[in-house]
Amino acid sequence: MNNESRDNTADFDAIIVGAGLCGIYMLYKLLQQGLRVMVVDRADEPGGTWYWNRYPGARFDSESYTYGYSFSDALLQEWDWSEHFAAQPETLRYLNHVVEHFDLREHMQFGLSVERADYNEADSLWAVTLDDGRSLSCRYLLTAVGMLSAATLPNISGGEEFHGKSFHTYYWPKEPVDLKGKRVAVIGTGATGVQIIGAIAPEVGQLTVFQRRPNWCAPLHNSPIDAEEMARIKESYADIFARCRATPNGFLHAPDRRVMADLSEAERHAFWDELYNSPGFGVWLGNFRDVLVDPASNAEFSAYMVGKISERVHDPVTAEKLTPQDHGFGTRRVPMETNYYEAYNYDHVRLVDLNDTPIERITPTGIATTAEELEFDIIVYATGFDAITGAYDRVDITGRRGQKLADKWRDGPITYMGTGVHGFPNLFTLTGPQGASVSTNFPPVIETAVEWTAAFIDYLERHGHRRAEVTEAAEQSWLAHVKNGYDHSLLAQTKSWFTGYNSNVAGHDKLRYMVYLGGAPAYREKLAEVADAIYEGYELT
Ligand code: NAP
Repeated sequence: MNNESRDNTADFDAIIVGAGLCGIYMLYKLLQQGLRVMVVDRADEPGGTWYWNRYPGARFDSESYTYGYSFSDALLQEWDWSEHFAAQPETLRYLNHVVEHFDLREHMQFGLSVERADYNEADSLWAVTLDDGRSLSCRYLLTAVGMLSAATLPNISGGEEFHGKSFHTYYWPKEPVDLKGKRVAVIGTGATGVQIIGAIAPEVGQLTVFQRRPNWCAPLHNSPIDAEEMARIKESYADIFARCRATPNGFLHAPDRRVMADLSEAERHAFWDELYNSPGFGVWLGNFRDVLVDPASNAEFSAYMVGKISERVHDPVTAEKLTPQDHGFGTRRVPMETNYYEAYNYDHVRLVDLNDTPIERITPTGIATTAEELEFDIIVYATGFDAITGAYDRVDITGRRGQKLADKWRDGPITYMGTGVHGFPNLFTLTGPQGASVSTNFPPVIETAVEWTAAFIDYLERHGHRRAEVTEAAEQSWLAHVKNGYDHSLLAQTKSWFTGYNSNVAGHDKLRYMVYLGGAPAYREKLAEVADAIYEGYELT
């Protein structure tokens, strides 16, 4: 359908919420298809997660050259990564560069939050209400809202009374924070806490880490990329992306197909030493396949990792406290670290185990545990997110017959392939719950989801369909499939944001089927099958 024949009754053909990695590419694709599109974002520039997370130590743990977009060779050839695992400022520069390269900025509006979105059955349009009071109509509503964009503060009282500086890592200030010589508290030891602790420990006056559950962390082994290596990377992009597309996780690291029991203990350890000393996620995702599915194999590798922690942390009591007791290696997302364990060897760094002495409250001068009152200049909340569905719950989304998305998802999300929801026509959730982007290297699957959605919208436009809605049966059958994936993974037995737990969000205290665990290749195949069968599982009107 060309621009002349398109129904122009709406303010826009499409509104995209979010100007991060996903929203940027979605905008590019829809503009290419001749649609009138607007992107709205509450930040004041593009970048999404890389705009917000400015905390010291924030960087990739995917290889930089597997994180960039693969769709444009010109873009690949003109961008140089300076490190194997680029830091946040570089990634933010990259995303701004993409926006400039494709001339996308004029279609983006910043500093605006979407307050509500209401589907109007009479004209099959969405009405999107912004916090500046405007209500804009569109045919397609695309949520590129990120999976970790609703930061959660801990449910501890007194935070607002603290006289020093305090912030959640997601909202780390834009202006430099002087940490030199300061007394700093970090609450939380997930991937974020682990990055920041390793980065600031040498600089601060005193660092106190408040830990509830330790994680199994592994060294990132970051290093610079020189001009010669960057040239080689540019020559091999086709191969790099083909390798990423072939692995279940979308990273360069494919699981090792050998069965652990077929190797001698010495051979196993030699392989593990190699993984531990190599850059990136190999130690988690390139390990023997059975480490993540067989409890005995998992226990053996976890024991190997205990050895690594005690080699690196001098004080045996601290080393033991840093060793997870409640879950095996890799059954929660593995934080990749740089000098994390070594940080605890400084005299000015202290670990407070909240299982022994829980925090009672934040005081005007610091933090009171059940054992003591500690004074701080700065409190850093590395306490995570209301993951995946939190960003949706913060917008009042109403579908057909007045149904609220937040009500539908109250006990856990339900979607069809993470792309759409029954009762919410023309809502494309893109990186939504129960899709594969959430559980894999984000960008490669994002590209698939965006391209699939763009092709779907093109189909709807060309055939004069005004409405595409997921059927209830398709949604139920996808949920059953997603649940089945949880039955076959040790990840599903561990409390984390992958399984929907968050002690700081009411009601998030039981298993939720948040992500698709079947891997990126199977997910791509499913999307292709659905498209080939003319969007089977959707009702087109
Ligand atoms: P997280 O993994 O959910 O960790 C939050 C931490 O805060 C946990 O240690 C948690 O303890 C603790 N916590 C939460 N509430 C608490 C409370 N009330 N009292 C005490 N401790 C509390 O969040 P995150 O570290 O921000 O990481 C989230 C995800 O972001 C990662 O899994 C990763 O996917 C992504 N990330 C990516 C990168 C990267 O790509 N380089 C870097 C950072 C993060 P419990 O474990 O006991 O709940």
